[in-house]
Amino acid sequence: MHELSIAMSLLDVAEEEAERRGGVRVEALYLKLGPLSGVVKEALLSAFELACEQTQFATSRLIIEEVPIVVFCQKCQAERNVHSVQEFCCVECDTPASDVLHGRELLLSALELAE
Ligand SMILES: [Zn+2]
Repeated sequence: MHELSIAMSLLDVAEEEAERRGGVRVEALYLKLGPLSGVVKEALLSAFELACEQTQFATSRLIIEEVPIVVFCQKCQAERNVHSVQEFCCVECDTPASDVLHGRELLLSALELAE
């Protein structure tokens, strides 16, 4: 299961960081997730729950911030959003987009640590 291995690697990073700070408790993990990352938010949340069971992270929360898709539109010569993953065209001029700037994120952006 793809999401489970991602959840476990997130916990690895969090564990390392918590230890580096002298074994503090991790309250929450903040993750930036783009629709093009190939990871489904709901699946990752349940995988995270599963991965946390019986560990020091049992009470930690995973907070997922969904990052919108942003492309560089050649026609507009500007950063634009697209209609959707299925309709991958500039919202302003409908030119098919290929230059993806955001949307592939799968990034642990912050940790909330207990004192
Ligand atoms: Zn455009």
